[in-house]
Amino acid sequence: MSRRRQERFILPGTQVKQKHWRQRLRADFRLAIISLFGLCTMLGILPLAVYRFMVGDWQTGAGDVALVAFIGVLVGFAWASGRTYVVARLLTLTVTLGYLGLVTFGNIDVMWAFPILGAGFLLTDRVFASASALGTLALTSLFADRFASAVDVWSFVTTGVLVSIFGLIFATRTELQQRQLTEIASRDPLTRAGNRRALRYALDEAERIKVRHESPTSLILIDLDHFKSINDVHGHEAGDRILVNLVEIINSRLRGQDSIFRLGGEEFVVLLPGAAAEDAERVAGTIKRTLATQLEGPGGPVTASMGVAELGPAEPVRQWLSRADEALYQAKRDGRDRVVMAPGPDA
Ligand code: GH3
Ligand code: MG
Ligand code: MG
Repeated sequence: MSRRRQERFILPGTQVKQKHWRQRLRADFRLAIISLFGLCTMLGILPLAVYRFMVGDWQTGAGDVALVAFIGVLVGFAWASGRTYVVARLLTLTVTLGYLGLVTFGNIDVMWAFPILGAGFLLTDRVFASASALGTLALTSLFADRFASAVDVWSFVTTGVLVSIFGLIFATRTELQQRQLTEIASRDPLTRAGNRRALRYALDEAERIKVRHESPTSLILIDLDHFKSINDVHGHEAGDRILVNLVEIINSRLRGQDSIFRLGGEEFVVLLPGAAAEDAERVAGTIKRTLATQLEGPGGPVTASMGVAELGPAEPVRQWLSRADEALYQAKRDGRDRVVMAPGPDA
C-alpha cells in the first residue's frame, strides 16, 4: 500500500499516555479538584487536630486525624487508579459524614458545613451533591443545641440553602457548557456525523472492547461515487445537501451501538461494534439498497462504494482502516456502487 494512502488514517490522538503529574492535572479536571480538595482539607484540618490535642480534646482530634488520613487514601487511590468519578463521590460522602460525626460527637463548628456543600457541587454530579447538601443541612439543624437561638438555626438553614442553590446553578451551567463543547469538538457541523477526533476515540474504544470481551467488531468505509461531478454540475450546495441526506439515511439503518463518522469530504466510516464480517457485509448491503431508493441527487440517484473489514486479533487500528480502504478502492475499480469485503489481515 502506498504511503500516501496510509497517511489518510493519521487521526488526531486522544489516548496520549500522560506520565507527568502536571500533564495529568491539566488533562483531568476532576483529578485536579480532588487533589486540591485533599490538600486544602489536610492543610485546614491538621493544624486544628494539633490544637485539639494540645487542649486535651482527644475525641475531636482523633476524628480530625482519621478524616485526614482517609481523605489522603482516597486521593492516592484516585491518582493510582484514575477512577476519579468514584473517588469524588466517596470524598463528598466522607467529608459529609465526617462533618456530621464531628458535629454530633466532637466539638466542631457548624460553619464547616459551607465548604462541604460547595465541595459537593464541584466534585460530583448535581443530584448527588443536592442530596448530600440537603442531608447536611437537615441533620445539622437538628442539633439545635449548637445554635444560640432559633434565629441562628433559621440563618444557618437559609444561608445553606442559598449556597446550595448557587452551587446547583453553577454546576448545571458547567454541565451544559461541557456537553455543548463536547458536541462541538466531536461532530462534523455539516452532517452531524462524528468527526475524526470522535472516530479516533471510538476506534480505540472498539479495540479495547475487542481485547477485553473477545467480541468481533467491524467497520464500513463509504465513499460517494462521482461526487465531484455532482458538485461541478449542480453546485456545492447541492453536494452539501446530499451529504446531509446520506448521513440521515444511514443513521436510520443503524442500531443503537453503531455510529457514523465523517472521515473527510464525501467519505464516511460506519463502526459496528459486536458485528462480525458477515454481519457488517449484510449491513453494508442494506445501506446500499436504501441509498439506491432514497438518496436522490439533482441529476438522479447517487450511489456509493463500500469497503468492509472486521478487526483482526491484535491488529493495529490503522491497518484495519487500511484494509477497509483497499477494499473500497477495489469496489471503485470494479465499477463503483458495490460492497467489497476486505481479505483477513493475514491474507
Ligand atoms: P469517486 O467515485 O472515484 O469517488 O469520484 P469522486 O468524484 O467522488 O471522488 P473525488 O475524491 O475526486 O471527489 C470528491 C469531491 O468531494 C471533491 C470535492 O469537491 C467534494 N467535496 C469534499 N468535501 C465536500 C463538502 O463538504 N461539500 C461538498 N459539496 N463537496 C465536497
Ligand atoms: Mg473520496
Ligand atoms: Mg467519491
